[in-house]
Amino acid sequence: MSVESNKVAIVTGASRGIGAAIAERLGKDGFTVVVNYAGSAASAEDVVRKIEQAGGKAVAAQADVSDAEAVRHMFDTAETAFGGVDVLVNNAGIMLLSPLVNVDDASFDRQIAINLKGTFNTLREAAKRLREGGRVINFSSSVVGLKPESYAVYAGTKAAVETMTGIMSKEMRGRKITVNAVAPGPTATDLFLNGKSDELIDRLAKANPLERLGTPDDIASVVAFLAGPDGTWVNGQVLRANGGMI
Ligand code: NAP
Repeated sequence: MSVESNKVAIVTGASRGIGAAIAERLGKDGFTVVVNYAGSAASAEDVVRKIEQAGGKAVAAQADVSDAEAVRHMFDTAETAFGGVDVLVNNAGIMLLSPLVNVDDASFDRQIAINLKGTFNTLREAAKRLREGGRVINFSSSVVGLKPESYAVYAGTKAAVETMTGIMSKEMRGRKITVNAVAPGPTATDLFLNGKSDELIDRLAKANPLERLGTPDDIASVVAFLAGPDGTWVNGQVLRANGGMI
């Protein structure tokens, strides 16, 4: 059995994409996994089944991360079912791209609500409740460094997440809790692929010297490192995982 047995991890946005790969990986590493989702109940149940088939323990938990009450309820449920929470992976996010001049209010508000307020909602609960030795892994993006056109609002939400990451790592002093962020580059999921031409996808895949897109498993490996025993000494950092794009 893995070294992480008895530890509990909440992974937000774990029904699809990178979050699903993280949930499966942490399940293999021995964590009991809370597979959070917003709307994709069937996909979340599939992830739970895969974790169980691999010998792990998991439960699906619906909660819109932008809803503070729903997030509190998800932490309550995890604590009641499993006795506590050790790891929070703040993976849930959306990306709506447009030149700044054309961004409408609804698109701005939604990205702030899910990417920034959603991350804050779960961080606040984690700050209150995470057990000693806990880990927080937030999600930024390499576009914070690249600053490409059309990413102003999305990258703005992620820059704020990076800032909260550093500050919260200091606020956890005395509890042996680390707080880091992972900042992927282009990764083959719905969020990245939807709405892009094959030509654009190919160009972005070649933008790093390894000349391919990231996979959800590439990113899950980085999260597993930060969540596991080898990551103990990394704290308050942003790890860009992008094949060397920036
Ligand atoms: P994805 O394939 O679109 O999956 C998004 C996940 O987030 C889904 O499980 C979705 O749940 C969940 N979600 C969305 N809104 C939610 C909400 N309000 N409450 C709870 N869950 C919610 O995205 P992804 O590519 O895996 O992205 C994961 C993270 O990596 C995001 O934070 C993203 O910004 C970041 N990232 C991705 C890339 C990339 O190239 N893919 C690059 C850099 C950073 P439902 O299925 O229920 O809707």
